[in-house]
Amino acid sequence: MTSQLGTGARPLRVAIVGAGPSGFYAAGALLQQKDYHVSIDIFDRLPTPYGLVRYGVAPDHQKIKSVIKVYERTMADSRVRYFGNVDLGSDITQPELKQHYDQIIYAVGALSDRRLDIPGEDLPGSFSATEFVAWYNGHPDFVDYEVDLSVESAVVVGVGNVAMDVTRILAKSVDELSKTDIADHALEKLAHSNIKHIHIIARRGPVQAKFTNPEIKELGELEVADVIVKPEDLVLDAASEAELAADRTTQRNMETLREFAERGVTGKPRQIHFHFLRSPVEICGDGQVTSVRMEKNLLVAKEDNYIACEGIGEFDDLPAGLVFRAIGYRSVPIPGVPFYDRWGLIPNQGGRVTATHKGETVPGEYVVGWAKRGPTGIIGTNKPDAVETVNLMLEDVPNLTPVADANPSAVVQLLQSRNVDYINFIDWQFLDQVEVKRGAPQGRPRVKITDVDEMLDLVRSKQGEE
Ligand SMILES: Cc1cc2nc3c(=O)[nH]c(=O)nc-3n(C[C@H](O)[C@H](O)[C@H](O)COP(=O)(O)OP(=O)(O)OC[C@H]3O[C@@H](n4cnc5c(N)ncnc54)[C@H](O)[C@@H]3O)c2cc1C
Repeated sequence: MTSQLGTGARPLRVAIVGAGPSGFYAAGALLQQKDYHVSIDIFDRLPTPYGLVRYGVAPDHQKIKSVIKVYERTMADSRVRYFGNVDLGSDITQPELKQHYDQIIYAVGALSDRRLDIPGEDLPGSFSATEFVAWYNGHPDFVDYEVDLSVESAVVVGVGNVAMDVTRILAKSVDELSKTDIADHALEKLAHSNIKHIHIIARRGPVQAKFTNPEIKELGELEVADVIVKPEDLVLDAASEAELAADRTTQRNMETLREFAERGVTGKPRQIHFHFLRSPVEICGDGQVTSVRMEKNLLVAKEDNYIACEGIGEFDDLPAGLVFRAIGYRSVPIPGVPFYDRWGLIPNQGGRVTATHKGETVPGEYVVGWAKRGPTGIIGTNKPDAVETVNLMLEDVPNLTPVADANPSAVVQLLQSRNVDYINFIDWQFLDQVEVKRGAPQGRPRVKITDVDEMLDLVRSKQGEE
C-alpha cells in the first residue's frame, strides 16, 4: 500500500531552484505550515547561497545583509538539504527534477539585464550595471570583467536604487570602501580610479525617479564627491506637482534634491551630476565609448495617471569613457521551463507556472521572486510573494500525482553519478567562516572567495581532515 502524500511516511518532496531571498521565504513558508510533512531540497548554481543578498546588495550596506540569519535557520532545519554548485539546465535537468519531486519552485531571480537598444550599446566601455555590480561584489562569473577606470567621466543611465549603488561605489573613496566586503579585485582597481565626474541620466523628471530616500540622501554624505542638481530641473509641471502631492517618499526625495541644488559645489574632487528629462539616444565612439548623445524630453500626462516622456528633437553630447545602463534586470530562460520573453520572466498566475503567458497552468511547477514578478521590490517584498505561491501549492496537493521515485537518496546518486561537485550547508558554513576569518585582521566583515575551484578545494581539504 502506498502512503498518502504529505504524511510522515511519505512527505511532500519539494525542489527549490535558487537560494536567494525568494527561495528561502518559500522554504520558510513550507516549513511553517502544519497541513503536510515536507522534505525540501534547495539547489543553487553557485556554491554560495543567498543570491543577490551576496552578489547584488551593495558592500557598503552591510546591515541589510543581516537578513541572512533568517535563511541560515531555514537551512539548518532537518527537513531541508542544500545543494550548492548545481545548475538547473546543465548539472540536473528539468525532467529529472520532475521525476524526483512532487512540486518544483523556480526561485531563479533575474540573471540578465534590460538593454537600451540604441546604437553603440556594445562598444567597449559600455556595460550593464548587472555586470559591474556582480564584479564589485565578487560574483565568480565576473572576476575577469575588464572595466577601465582610468577615464575621467562615467555615465549611469537610470534613477533606481541600482543606479544609486553604482554611482556611490564609483564615487566613494578607497577608505570608505576598504572596510566593506567589496571584492579585493574591485577594491584594488577602484583605489586607482581616475573618475572625476559621474553623470546620472534620467528619462523623466525628479518626481518620477525611482530611488528611495535613504539612497539619494547617502549621495550627499560622501567624503570625496559633491552632488550637482540644476535648480531648473526641479521646476515641476502640473502633472508632476499632483504626483508629488500624493506621495511622501517623493516629497522627501524632492526635499533632498532641493538641498543638493542649494548646496552646489563644495570643492570635493569628484562630482555627481544629475541630468533629468534626458534620454540616451546613442553611445558614441570609434572603438571605445567617448560620449553619450542625449535627447531632451518633455513630460506628457497620460490618461491612466502615468506621466510619460517624449523627445523634442534637441540633442546634446556628454563626454564619457564609461557607460553603465541600470534600467532593470531580466530572467534568463532555462531549458524545459516556460519563459515569457517579452517580460523576461517565467509566466505564471499568482505563482503557478503557466505554459505560456496567460496559458494553462503546468501541474506541480511554481515560481517566486524576481523570476515571478520581474525585478521589482526590496528583499522583504519576496516574503509575501513567496507565501502567495506556497498557499497555491498547498491548495494543489490533493490533486497532485505523487512522483514514483521520491527517495531523497536518488538525487544524491544522480549528482554523484555525474560527478557534480555539490556542496551542502555544513560545507557552506565552513566557507563562510574562512571568509570571515580572512576579513577580521583588516576590520572587514569578510574577504570573499571569488573562485569556485578555490571554494571546492577548501571544502574538500576540510572533508579530508574529518
Ligand atoms: C544591485 C542590487 C542591489 C539591491 N540592493 C537591495 C537592498 O539594498 N535592499 C533590498 O531590500 N533589496 C535590494 N535589492 C533587491 C533584492 O536583491 C531582490 O529583491 C532579491 O534578491 C530577489 O530575490 P530572488 O530570490 O528572486 O532572486 P536572487 O536573489 O537573484 O536569487 C536567485 C538565485 O537563483 C540562482 N539561480 C539562477 N539560475 C539558476 C539555475 N539555473 N540553477 C540553479 N540556481 C539558479 C542564482 O544563483 C541565485 O542565487 C537589490 C537588487 C540589486 C540587483
